[in-house]
Amino acid sequence: MSETKSVAVVGAGIFGLSLAVALRDKGYLVTVFDRHAYDETQYDPAADENVQAASFRASYGTKLHYQRLALESRQEWIAINKSSGIDLFVPSGMLRVQPSDELGALEKETLANMERDGIRETQFVKSLAEDRKRAKAQGWEGKLLEFPIPDSTDAGTYEAVLDSLGGFMRCSHACLYFQQLAASKGVGFVFGNQRGDVESIVEEAVGDKKKAVGVKTKDGIIHKADLVLDLSTHLESSGGSLATFKIDKDNKALWDKYSPENFPVITWKSTPRNKTGKDTGSVYVLPRTPDGLVKIGFRGIKVRPESSCGLFFSLILRQQFTNFQPAPEGVPFAQDGKWSIPMSPRDSCTIPEAAVDSIWQFVKIFLPEFDQVPFHSTKLCWYTDSLDNSFVIDYVPTYTGNSLFVCTGGSGHGAKFLPVLGKHAADILQNGDKATSFLRPFWRWRPDAPRRNGLEDGPDCPRNIGQT
Ligand SMILES: Cc1cc2nc3c(=O)[nH]c(=O)nc-3n(C[C@H](O)[C@H](O)[C@H](O)COP(=O)(O)OP(=O)(O)OC[C@H]3O[C@@H](n4cnc5c(N)ncnc54)[C@H](O)[C@@H]3O)c2cc1C
Repeated sequence: MSETKSVAVVGAGIFGLSLAVALRDKGYLVTVFDRHAYDETQYDPAADENVQAASFRASYGTKLHYQRLALESRQEWIAINKSSGIDLFVPSGMLRVQPSDELGALEKETLANMERDGIRETQFVKSLAEDRKRAKAQGWEGKLLEFPIPDSTDAGTYEAVLDSLGGFMRCSHACLYFQQLAASKGVGFVFGNQRGDVESIVEEAVGDKKKAVGVKTKDGIIHKADLVLDLSTHLESSGGSLATFKIDKDNKALWDKYSPENFPVITWKSTPRNKTGKDTGSVYVLPRTPDGLVKIGFRGIKVRPESSCGLFFSLILRQQFTNFQPAPEGVPFAQDGKWSIPMSPRDSCTIPEAAVDSIWQFVKIFLPEFDQVPFHSTKLCWYTDSLDNSFVIDYVPTYTGNSLFVCTGGSGHGAKFLPVLGKHAADILQNGDKATSFLRPFWRWRPDAPRRNGLEDGPDCPRNIGQT
């Protein structure tokens, strides 16, 4: 390829940074735009009073391709930890707590796939004596925690699987690391709420088609580029709820108990279940940060509500929220002229009551010391959901000359792939259908795919908490 092909990347988050580094390595001239002044804040979570950590798992049920990508990424994280001397990835383990005292169906699929890939010995099932023995021998036994099932008649505890490959990433530090890495390789950055905020894609008519020729930022400047990378098409924003507790360092018992050395990431498919036995959401907690923050997240599932009244309300309360607002003229993916977008940080400080209820239910069982303790902070955090929770990484066919490429749709699980996502995406960008990445078929532009995964619900669904 031409050494001088220029690329404008919109967004210096996980996807943008990962791809910027990979494209620069392939010789492209890359400029990244972001409306946040990350050059000033250094991605510091304190800048928006947030905890920027994301969990790492290799467990993906039947989705072997994501399991494999996660393992590839994990190797890179470990290598980066070593070379940088910073613990960007913390291998604290992850305890997947089941909804009952038995292994769930998804868990069985995950374990079968791990067996297939030769990594079953990295998983420890609480109820299996041989797994417990292995956990003990490898020093993991202390994290194979027991949690009582409330109101259980026989003093039962939840079944759980400890994943010794799991853990969490310190996302803010990781983004800063990748931003500095990109800059050191010659990637240009334009940050700030005027200079870096991309208002529109600059287009030129080519016959009856349009070609992307650059981006226009809010300060009115047009930045020309041979190729534009957009991060926001064909998707929907939905709000997940976060709450934190703060542990005082003087409280040594709690400080030690919830440290990454002693406490794993815990995820729990929370009860109650719906009529078909499907779970209605999940709650997770990360070990405390060096500042003593314990972060808990709730993510509801997205199913069409049923008409029977009692069930209807209990399901709605536990669902993933949308925020529909009027969409700009001509946006192809709008529903009734609206699309769901993130709320402003100011409006995202309060989490819905239903999420609070689910989090308290979790706290009572899994973090009993915090029962009734006021939250340190709460926040709605906005997912970018695709039709099927798989990423969308491809050229946009309505633009001619391969001039607009999208790399987005993190769907709540993209952060763990930061070190490797860009390499696969750059292969697709450079080679299209001839790409060798095993992820090519999963990340395609999928115009004919039906709206699923809750994206079919639209603005009239009660999950919409947007006020227009
Ligand atoms: C609550 C929550 C929990 C999550 N937990 C996990 C987890 O445990 N594990 C995991 O692996 N993943 C997790 N994720 C997913 C992960 O955070 C995302 O997949 C990932 O951040 C997506 O990367 P991105 O680059 O698309 O978006 P972001 O990282 O959000 O970056 C987008 C960037 O684009 C900028 N931008 C947007 N529009 C413009 C514009 N017009 N002009 C200029 N700049 C613009 C924004 O300022 C931002 O910096 C979670 C996500 C959420 C919301």
